Amino acid sequence: MAQPATWSKPPVVTILGHEGDPRIALVHEAVDYWNGIFAEIGSPLRLGPVRFTPGEIPVDTLRGLSERIVGIGRLVPMPASVAAVPGNLIVALSDGDFISFATRWPGEEKALAAIKSHLAMPLSLPNVARNVIAHEIGHAIGLRHNSDPALLMCGRPAPCRPSAFQSDTPRMFPLTAGEKQQLRSMYPPL
Ligand SMILES: [Zn+2]
Repeated sequence: MAQPATWSKPPVVTILGHEGDPRIALVHEAVDYWNGIFAEIGSPLRLGPVRFTPGEIPVDTLRGLSERIVGIGRLVPMPASVAAVPGNLIVALSDGDFISFATRWPGEEKALAAIKSHLAMPLSLPNVARNVIAHEIGHAIGLRHNSDPALLMCGRPAPCRPSAFQSDTPRMFPLTAGEKQQLRSMYPPL
């Protein structure tokens, strides 16, 4: 499989959602997590700045993208409602119920991480939304799935599902050494 496209400059992160959404803080936490990883591995890439934009992408659009992308990684045209959102890495905090996903349009310097409702299972479970958001941003950075349910990037075709992130203690699931090495080769030290 070809190496995924990399960000050529730090992606401006746009949180698209509604004021007061508890997931807004989790997006900041996830961005800090990834920037900590980049610092740890000596990579110059940083995500951000992070900006909040009130609004939403229609649930039908997100559900349609999810059905075409999840488990397949198919390239799809960018919907106009995505193109209209400023910034490079859009984290859409939806009230809809679909399988959360991330997809990229490298030519347009744009990525979308779409997060389903935090009121529906499994994101209503403690610690799950935090890791789902970090996981989807991981795809937007260029990582793919692994098959270890103890790790952040576990996913299809492995039987890992987001409910495995449930924890009574807030914690971010880890990466593998191989994933860190992949990030380091995608975003090498200067
Ligand atoms: Zn995934």
